[in-house]
This record gives sequence, structure tokens and C-alpha cells, in this order.
Amino acid sequence: MHLSATVQKLAPSATIAAANKAKELKRQGVKVLEFTLGEPDFVTPKHICEAAKQAMDAGHTHYTAAGGMPELKQAIRDAYERDTGLSYEPTQVVVSNGAKHSIHNVLTAMCGPGDEVIIPAPYWVSYSALVELTGATPVIVDTTEESGFCLSAEQFEAAITDRTRLMMLNNPCNPTGAAYTIEGLEALARVAVNRSIPVLSDEIYDKLIYEGSEFKSFATFGDDVAALTIIVNGCSKAYAMTGWRIGWTLAPPDLSKAMEKLQSQETSNPCSVSQFAAIAALNESQDCVAEMLTHFAKRREYVLGRLAEIPNISLATPGGAFYAFFNVSSYFGKPLGSGKTVDNSSDFCTALLEDAHVALVTGDAFGAPGYVRLSFATDLDTLKAGFDGLQKFLNP
Ligand SMILES: *Cc1c(COP(=O)(O)O)cnc(C)c1O
Repeated sequence: MHLSATVQKLAPSATIAAANKAKELKRQGVKVLEFTLGEPDFVTPKHICEAAKQAMDAGHTHYTAAGGMPELKQAIRDAYERDTGLSYEPTQVVVSNGAKHSIHNVLTAMCGPGDEVIIPAPYWVSYSALVELTGATPVIVDTTEESGFCLSAEQFEAAITDRTRLMMLNNPCNPTGAAYTIEGLEALARVAVNRSIPVLSDEIYDKLIYEGSEFKSFATFGDDVAALTIIVNGCSKAYAMTGWRIGWTLAPPDLSKAMEKLQSQETSNPCSVSQFAAIAALNESQDCVAEMLTHFAKRREYVLGRLAEIPNISLATPGGAFYAFFNVSSYFGKPLGSGKTVDNSSDFCTALLEDAHVALVTGDAFGAPGYVRLSFATDLDTLKAGFDGLQKFLNP
């Protein structure tokens, strides 16, 4: 079959590829300690599943409005107002098949060949791929471990050209766990306003913030900032609902209308039953979110403790999300595990998987050579076994 130049150029999602490699080993009967996937290990809370069952029984199994049911748009606006104090109009909400789909909608509606999109690195695997799909050029700006992997206002400013259409911010960040300070966000917001650069603010991890860090939505820094901000969020991470595929944008009305039009041609509406589940997630008790956060916080403490015991590994302490992103480059060129040597993160991850059956994702996938990503969205026993394996691998 003839394949388009666009798909031929498209790289498969590296995190999914890493997970597949681990799955292959598992099929061979090997017990793999898995830290690759970016999704909560908890099952979706019961009351959310119940709402979906009731929706099915009540016959809500048909097409809905392309941009989402009015009741869900209302629930999203209420939740955002509860969390941030900001109110949005129904014309500013578009519900999609997941936050990833929302990002695709935004980029397709705003960007094309010749345009540039600023992406701070390390970045989530899909950002650059989705920008490239539109024909636009990702402009990658490297942040440093010393800065906590946060983009500075100066870096943002310096990356802007006449062709800049958008900056993509991810706070808290996948893969680094970076949680921006309020001052840091404010400084970025000022640059956005002064230079009239729209900002896509991916806030999918907004509920997963640990002690010592703070979260503030990018749109809350003033009306002038809100007018340039496209909030991306969804149910996947806060409510352990990755399989339900519900995400959304809060954006200016003209852009929202364009995205709704796009969606009406590409996918029609997000799954009707999932929309009912999302309404329950947003409208009912938020205790389940707090409970999952408590577990994530314990795991994070454990992970940071174990990493601190390993010499010559460095990281910026994650303030949010459920990832530890650490630098293993001091182990390159030295014998590891069964005596192999490696000279990059990808080979490091392959050797670690083969020798110790521990699966991490290479930092190369996130634009950060020398680093690896560990997801701590898994139970403490698995984490303990994983770190035992990693430690043994590093000190054969
Ligand atoms: C998981 C994730 C998303 C996407 O979530 P959906 O399941 O598509 O809603 C978006 N952005 C980042 C940074 C993520 O880690």
C-alpha cells in the first residue's frame, strides 16, 4: 500500500514502544518489573463506573453533540471554577477523545507548514510528533536540571520569531515531574502577553502535586493571559480513567468553534457512556483523587529515598505527576550488569531490561539524552524489586 509521506515520517510513541518490548519478554514467561507506562495503576473509582453502567441501561448509547454533551461542558466549567475561580462560557469548552486528541485539535486548528511551535525539552513524546503532523516545525528549547527543568522567561523570549504560533507548556511535566513556581509561570505569562504568543497549557497532572509545590492554572494570571491561553485537561490521570478517553480544552470561542468543526468531521463526539462517567467524576466527591494522591506521595518518597542511595545519579526532585527523571550518563562506558557497556540512554534501558528485567523509558524519547524516566504509578513492592534490580545492575 502506498503510505503518505506524513505517516512515513511519524515515529511511533516511544513509551508505548518501550512497554511493548517489556510485554514481549513477559510473553516469554519473564517477570518484568515495569516502570514505563504513564498511567495510574488504580482502577477507575466505583461510583464513576456505576454512572457509566446507568447511562448504558438508560439507553444513552447514541451520538451526542460533537464537542461534548452540554451537561459535561457544565461539569467541566463548574470544576474549573471550583478549582481556580475562573468562569468560562459553554462556547469555550470542547470535549474530545482524550487530552492527546485535544492537543491534536489545537495544533491542527492553529498550525501549518511554515509555522513554528515552541516546546521546552524534556517534553512529552507526542508534542513534537503532533506538531510535525500539521507540517509546522517544533522549536525545541532545552531546559536544565538546575532550573528544575523549567523554561525561563528569557528562554521563551529568545525562541520567539515571526513564525511562532504557539508555545506548549506542560505543568506539572511528563517526563520530568517539574512543577513550575508561581513566579516562573507569571514571568512566562508576561512574555506571552507582551509578544502576543498563545500558550497551550497542558494541565493534565494538575491534581498530582506534592508537598512543597504549588499549582496555578496558566489562565489565572489575568484576563490578558487567559485570552491567549488554551487549557488542556482530562479525566485520565486524576481519576484513573485512561481507557475512557475523555479530554477537553478551555479556549477562546473562535478557536473552540474551529476545533468543534474539526472534530465533527474527524471523530464526531467522544464516547457517550464515557461522557456520563466524566460527569460523575467531576461532579461527585473528590475524595478518590485525594486518596490516590496519598499513594502516589508515598511511592514518590520511596523512589526519592532509593535514588538518593545510588551514587552518581542526578535528578531534579519531581514536584508533581508520577515520574522520576534521572541522569544515568555517569554509568556510560563502564561495565554494567553482566558486563555490558553502553554509551547512551536507549542502550542503557535495553541492557537494564535484558539483564535485570527492569523496564524504564529512555530520555532520548523526550529530547533528553543521558536521562531515563521511571513511572512510579505502580505498587511499592514492585518499586522495591525494581530498585533492587537497578542497584545490582549498576554495581555488578
Ligand atoms: C497522559 C498525558 C496526556 C494525555 O492524556 P489522555 O489520556 O489522552 O487524556 C496528555 N499530556 C500529558 C503530558 C500526558 O502525560
